[in-house]
Amino acid sequence: DYSKPVRVRFAPSPTGRMHLGSGRTALYNYLLARKTGGQFILRIEDTDQKRYVPTAEQELIDGMHWLGLQWDEGPDVGGPYGPYRQSERKEIYLHYARQLVESGHAYYCFCTPERLEKVRQEQQARKEQPHYDGTCRHIDPDEAARRVARGERHVIRFKTPREGVTVVRDLLRGEITVENRLIDDYVIVKSDGLALYHLAAMVDDHLMKITHVFRGAEWLPTFPLHALIIRAFGWQEPEFIHLSVFLKPSGKGKMSKREAADLMKDGYSIFVTDFKDLGYLPEAVVNWIALMGWSYDDHTEFFTMPDLIEKFSLEGLNPSPA
Ligand code: GLU
Repeated sequence: DYSKPVRVRFAPSPTGRMHLGSGRTALYNYLLARKTGGQFILRIEDTDQKRYVPTAEQELIDGMHWLGLQWDEGPDVGGPYGPYRQSERKEIYLHYARQLVESGHAYYCFCTPERLEKVRQEQQARKEQPHYDGTCRHIDPDEAARRVARGERHVIRFKTPREGVTVVRDLLRGEITVENRLIDDYVIVKSDGLALYHLAAMVDDHLMKITHVFRGAEWLPTFPLHALIIRAFGWQEPEFIHLSVFLKPSGKGKMSKREAADLMKDGYSIFVTDFKDLGYLPEAVVNWIALMGWSYDDHTEFFTMPDLIEKFSLEGLNPSPA
């Protein structure tokens, strides 16, 4: 049923060049928004300062403009449609993190990096999957609040239930059931007060009233954690669609930077804006990436953007790697 307007977002992290996989995620969001008369939001997820690449945001914007994927909304609706930026929304995430602490769904953790490293090594020696050992779960909440007020260095961790299972549903892949004891108590706010993706994206998707989340399959392992966070707040869950990863032509693994550079010599690339420099038409690139993970029938090979908007369907998406 495509009669209900969706609200979707493309939420890239500006950590490097704009990959074709990102172009495809942006395209599918755009197509679903245009098909249903909904809205398409651009949200720059720039909270990871260590991985931040200053030129990346402009390249993303140039890439989207070149592909013809105009987004609809920004902090100043009606203005120049600037994107949302997570670095400008830090206080919002902290507010919701504290709410989780107050409701008993998260806790302050005072473990030092040295202690965590020691725990990790011990777990490794026992051939265990590295995970937080839960030490700070047991600190009395009033005592923890006093230590925070005194300025003691801390992070905030999500308190994953130790029993039972979590069932999540991906629109392409169906239901996935995970035992809660296998889900770590992930850090949701770092010691510098910055929220991690796990919290920031769930908060933003809720506040921005997102109905469908298209994201890479690399988020499948933490999908149950994300569902637990949304449920801890009692929020409505969007539909999740985890798109297949892009593999190198041999089908073995992801492409290295060096291999990507070699492709350029043969007139190919894995980066969107390179195709502009190589002289390709944006329509051709849109058509090509649309078909890497979506199919309509076995014979139509060329789709214009209006064709794609008309024919795009979630049923035509393919979960296997492209
Ligand atoms: N910032 C995340 C990434 O680039 C986005 C994942 C998402 O769309 O939720 O991988």
